[in-house]
Amino acid sequence: MDNATRLQYLQAMGIDVWVSRDCKSVEASLPVNDAKFNASEPAENNVELVTDNWSALQQEVAECQKCELCKTRTQTVFGAGNVNADWMLVGDEPGEREDVEGKPFVGASGVLLTEMIRAIGLQRESVYITNIIKCNPVDNREAKTEEVNSCNDFLLRQIALVKPKVILAVGRMAAQALLGSKEPLSGLRGKVHQLNGIPVVVVYHPSYLLRSMHEKRKAWQDLQLAMKQIRN
Ligand code: URA
Repeated sequence: MDNATRLQYLQAMGIDVWVSRDCKSVEASLPVNDAKFNASEPAENNVELVTDNWSALQQEVAECQKCELCKTRTQTVFGAGNVNADWMLVGDEPGEREDVEGKPFVGASGVLLTEMIRAIGLQRESVYITNIIKCNPVDNREAKTEEVNSCNDFLLRQIALVKPKVILAVGRMAAQALLGSKEPLSGLRGKVHQLNGIPVVVVYHPSYLLRSMHEKRKAWQDLQLAMKQIRN
């Protein structure tokens, strides 16, 4: 079977198919009768198919050297939890504890995040948790825009694999990166946004809530808004 036919079969079966970004492959994935298709090259030689899966993606993240953060990390922090979850929680960036343990939200803010998950009637293991970037910036500095951008593709692929019913953007950096916005968190919370057809609700980061307990009521309102998206 030629690759173009295989691509059609995989898509018809609902299997995620990733096509290499080099322009040859993109052109070859167009219908054969498309004017842009280069008929001088057989489709089989032109198409490079990559079916995305968790182990391939995790391996790519572990080996990533797309930005400077690879030089100082102990290890990448990929994500953890239920890969078939209805809820996907996306935080800002791994801290020092996460860098050592290789898991997201294992420090003090993780304890509160686990409480927030319990408050919506779930166990931490039943949701999927990751961050917008996969490496800890030294001294917990805020990641630069180019560092966030180099990790964006990994996050989008994780979202495509989980196919959550709702995304909770945990913290300002996560919210701004997911929504492509520069608005402060106060302007982004309290609304339902969309990312590739998935509702996104913004909530205060637990490390902020640990410092500003009076905002807990607002965080609870945001969690309720997210719960509503699951029920709808
Ligand atoms: N803060 C985050 O945003 N993510 C973590 O994994 C830990 C702390």
